[in-house]
Amino acid sequence: MTALLELSGVTAFYGASQALFGVDLTVGEGEAVALMGRNGMGKTTTIKTICRMMAHRDGDIRFAGNDLAKLPSHKAARLGIGLVPEGRRCFARLTVMENLMAAATVGEWDFARVADLFPRLAERRDQKAMTLSGGEQQMLAIGRALMTNPRLLILDEATEGLAPVVRQEIWVAINVLKQSGLSILVVDKSLKELSGVADRYVIVEKGVTAWSGAVNDLTDDLTNRYLGV
Ligand code: ATP
Repeated sequence: MTALLELSGVTAFYGASQALFGVDLTVGEGEAVALMGRNGMGKTTTIKTICRMMAHRDGDIRFAGNDLAKLPSHKAARLGIGLVPEGRRCFARLTVMENLMAAATVGEWDFARVADLFPRLAERRDQKAMTLSGGEQQMLAIGRALMTNPRLLILDEATEGLAPVVRQEIWVAINVLKQSGLSILVVDKSLKELSGVADRYVIVEKGVTAWSGAVNDLTDDLTNRYLGV
């Protein structure tokens, strides 16, 4: 499988404080990879370095053959990395339609396709984002990322804090995207749901990739060691 995204030996700092000590991670074309680890182990920081919201120090990050260290963040976004950030940030005072159109680029994704994936967004197209439920805002955040026609979709805690039924709707959509061939990197706490969508797991512990492997190779021992509370 050709690697779309490849991190090797990535380190990163918040000021003088080191958060990543050597992250290795690969997402192949059309692959769904779950990035896992306990709280504070470096998942969001890893995503920030991929999206160039934060510079890495050592190691390499390559995306579609490009060395990301050489690119500023707006150029990285144009390469095709679509982020659904933690905390589902949308423009509160813009309508659903305006939020989507603000993110639009030329490509396969348009309002109709997003509405097909999330019919609730079509019903609420003229509502301001701040009047949406948490789940609907999350759908809008995913829709916005898709409107940029990403080659890689990154989801950081997309189902956090949502009611079970809405969570389920989001997972169904993520599965549809996976089936369509989109490459996905997903951070989430729900192992059960992740096992349904991911091809591989990458586990970080204290800023280092501690284990990676196929979903079926994650034993109970490993789960207890790296993910247990
Ligand atoms: P969570 O699931 O809690 O979001 P995470 O695995 O995403 O956890 P990170 O947010 O990447 O973890 O945090 C990794 C380390 O970096 C932690 O030790 C954290 O305290 C530290 N850190 C995160 N954000 C900052 C920041 N803005 N300034 C300083 N240190 C930070």
